[in-house]
Amino acid sequence: MGLALVIGVVTLVVTLLALDPAMNRASDINDANQRAAQAMLSEETALRGYLATGEQRFLVADRQAGQELVNADADMESLALQNDRLAPLILDVRLGQAAWIEQWATPTSKTPAQARPTGPALLRLLDQGSELFDNYNAAESKLGPAIDRENATVQGDQRTLLVTVLLLEVVLVSGTFVVTAFQQHKLQRAIGGPVDNIVKVMHLAAAGDLSVRAEGGGPEELHQIATGLNAMNEALATERAVGAARETEAAAQSERLAQILSVAREIAGSLNLRYVLRSVGLGARMMTGQDSAHVWLTDEARNALVPAYDSSGPDGVPMDQESVQFGEETAGKAAKYGRTTVEEVPTPDGVTSRLAVPMIVGARVVGVLEVRGSCAAETDQGVLEALDALATHAASAIEAARLHVELERRSEIDALTRLPNRHRLDDDLAAECARSLRYGRPLAFVMMDVDNFKLFNDLYGHQVGDEVLQEVATVLAHEVRDGDTAYRYGGEEFGVLLRESDAAEGQQAAERFRSRIEAAFADRGWAAGVTASFGVAAFSEAVSTEKRLVEAADRALYEAKHAGRNRVVVASDGRTLVEHGDGDGAPRLAVRPLRAPRKTKAS
Ligand code: GH3
Ligand code: MG
Ligand code: MG
Repeated sequence: MGLALVIGVVTLVVTLLALDPAMNRASDINDANQRAAQAMLSEETALRGYLATGEQRFLVADRQAGQELVNADADMESLALQNDRLAPLILDVRLGQAAWIEQWATPTSKTPAQARPTGPALLRLLDQGSELFDNYNAAESKLGPAIDRENATVQGDQRTLLVTVLLLEVVLVSGTFVVTAFQQHKLQRAIGGPVDNIVKVMHLAAAGDLSVRAEGGGPEELHQIATGLNAMNEALATERAVGAARETEAAAQSERLAQILSVAREIAGSLNLRYVLRSVGLGARMMTGQDSAHVWLTDEARNALVPAYDSSGPDGVPMDQESVQFGEETAGKAAKYGRTTVEEVPTPDGVTSRLAVPMIVGARVVGVLEVRGSCAAETDQGVLEALDALATHAASAIEAARLHVELERRSEIDALTRLPNRHRLDDDLAAECARSLRYGRPLAFVMMDVDNFKLFNDLYGHQVGDEVLQEVATVLAHEVRDGDTAYRYGGEEFGVLLRESDAAEGQQAAERFRSRIEAAFADRGWAAGVTASFGVAAFSEAVSTEKRLVEAADRALYEAKHAGRNRVVVASDGRTLVEHGDGDGAPRLAVRPLRAPRKTKAS
């Protein structure tokens, strides 16, 4: 825009500067011609005065006018002699002047005052002068209009030129204006767009959005800036993703370590193998997020792995898993070679990934910890390491529990409660059943299970749980009559053998145990008190082996749990009698059909 204005002003000034000399020249010619005509007239007037008076001052005026004429003629020559149209006319004027000057003016001025003609001679001289002057005038009268015409022509030309220049000016200025506007538009499109886009991407990146990319339009430099910016954004996004992944992995790993620690703490304090297996299995499953967890124990005599825990079985008890020989399947390979083994196993639903970690104590593989499920978690190095660490803790705990079981089996006394253990119960039961059968003596068996004990452990910790079991054992030991024996059956389960007792006496005894236990823990300020459920069975024709006796008591216990816990149920000839043990000494009996046996106990 500015450029258009500058161009317009400059061309206008140049045109005006070019016009001015031509106009001046035209008026100067006119002026010189006028001056010459005036000088001629003055000279003639002076000479006529001199002829009439003989006064010298007329001659002075004549000379002055003559000089003026010379100057005017010189100007005329320099201004117009190049002009083809004026030059011949000027020449005629100059010839007229010269004839008048030479033939009349000069001789007249040189005539002394006293020799001046008079009378008719003077008249003739004057006539002669007039004639010559008329000749000059005639020539001059052609030059004047010619100069006017020249002037008119020059003015016309100048006007045309001026108009043309102005028109050109308008065209030029508006052309420049249009071109400038167009170029600005083009520039805006070529540079403005890409620059706006780059700035927008920069702002988004500063605000944390690294996903947007700059469009690489415009000049090469802008294209390079956009490419650089995109590369920078990509690098930052990658860096951010890597950082986030590291953070997630670190968080996951610390979570896993916390889980390992919690499992390790749990199992370190327990010598209960079932409990240890369950904790390890649950821990492995939670830590890996896999579908199922399995714990296998080594059967050294058979060189095989025996299924000991399966997270998908009821309460972790493996249902239809077979033993696995060393070297077979994923777990067997892990056991045989003593190292972590990963395999993809085809299943009807697709492919299951199996990850098996050997549990090693010293140089002995005591078992295998295995998880099964989707592939992703198992290829994770952090998961592998965590599982390995868990397997190490598990190996020691399992070995300790097994040794403990072995020791217990040999000593027949439970280490925690100091009650006779289950092995002792098995022996005693066999002996008492044989005796009952032989002599027809009554015999009752009570199976007891602490209620909601898992929840209790979760709330107050395993250590407090152990102390509770010890107190429960003490209560039982105090409450049994002479000749009767309380046993720790396993876990939080107890058995009482009531010699010389029938079902009713068994029920009474069980109710006594129930109310004493309830009372013993009533004032501890715990959220939930400690109670237990009881199943009572009596030896009879229908229940004539120790196995059936235990099963009947177990079924009754199951019923007691099912009926709401903290109560006694008596199994009687295919029926169970439910007593609502509310401790008021007046048992209310209900008749229930016998239920299916409770889960099989793992020893
Ligand atoms: P229910 O009333 O149905 O019997 O519920 P429960 O929670 O007692 O039953 P479950 O069989 O699910 O849990 C038994 C729990 O007893 C599991 C384990 O935490 C706990 N337990 C078993 N043995 C021991 C032990 O020696 N010490 C401690 N502290 N807890 C044990
Ligand atoms: Mg139980
Ligand atoms: Mg229980």
